[in-house]
Amino acid sequence: MERRKFIKTASLTGVGLTLGSTLLNCDETVSEKITEQHSEAINDLYGIPLVVATWHVENATAKAMEILQAGGNALDAVEQGCRVEEADAKGQTVGKGGLPDREGNVTLDASIMDKHGNCGSVVYLQNVTHAVSVARKVMEETPHVMLAGEGAKQFALSKGFQSEDLLTEASKNAWEKWKINAQYQPIINIENHDTIGMLAIDKNGDISGACTTSGLAYKMEGRVGDSPIIGSGLFIDNDIGGCVATGLGEEVVKTVGSFLVVELMRQGKSPQQACEEAIGRIVNKPNSDYKNFQVGYVAVNKQGETGCYSIHQNFNMTKFQDGVNTQIQSDYFNKA
Ligand code: ASP
Repeated sequence: MERRKFIKTASLTGVGLTLGSTLLNCDETVSEKITEQHSEAINDLYGIPLVVATWHVENATAKAMEILQAGGNALDAVEQGCRVEEADAKGQTVGKGGLPDREGNVTLDASIMDKHGNCGSVVYLQNVTHAVSVARKVMEETPHVMLAGEGAKQFALSKGFQSEDLLTEASKNAWEKWKINAQYQPIINIENHDTIGMLAIDKNGDISGACTTSGLAYKMEGRVGDSPIIGSGLFIDNDIGGCVATGLGEEVVKTVGSFLVVELMRQGKSPQQACEEAIGRIVNKPNSDYKNFQVGYVAVNKQGETGCYSIHQNFNMTKFQDGVNTQIQSDYFNKA
């Protein structure tokens, strides 16, 4: 894919160069024709929609790609993609069926960000499955960025979202079992998280992203992670690229992880290099306890290059591009 983009970029540059010299002397018709060719070349450059997401979420990326292939924009794609996971009651880390906090409450965090840098998020949202869509409503229909708790829920209900019990039998049973020992350790092991963070580039080359989670299983009541915090769980700069995070949110927040990745790309790093450096900021802290928690990043830049990196093995990115919807095993830091 990188090669393909390179070729497209090169041919676009060629068109630009030709244009530059030809336009000096041309009449209007010629100029219009060349402009047409130029925009075709731009469409060609940006004509390959792309979706990437944290973890193995092929159904979600397929939904997002369906939107993009139909000419939809990246914002609709990431929202609709995330909704697939939120609606899946079998998934115990997102939306309906999410594992509860230690008091038995399922509380959701989500965020969304568009190509203009607009963003919305919800934290500690209860009884509403599609937290990502509520976050979008916050972005589009309020003057605010973040709504929390009961306020977020009332806002959602006022916008027509249905109130429902999100604690499924399976998650309730898991919680009951956990309560027997009730060991509370704010760590996330490699099997214990599945936040979906998704980034998409549409046919216009515009980037959007979203992130949704039920957070850390059996968390303290009121605990909020990185996923709804713009710059931590998610950040988009349409001129540069985007990043989403998963893993122990506290560590992502402390390093403002997604913003960091985008800023590193702005400085010229590839998405892969940027993700690796952002993980480095966590693991290289003096006394970092990184052996006991996981963090993973997925990033994309404006050219459609992608990257992912995590602290421990078994993190992966789902990527849908050029008709291929596949899992890519992430490289990782802790090889000891
Ligand atoms: N980042 C999420 C949080 O800390 C957890 C996850 O990725 O599953 O709430």
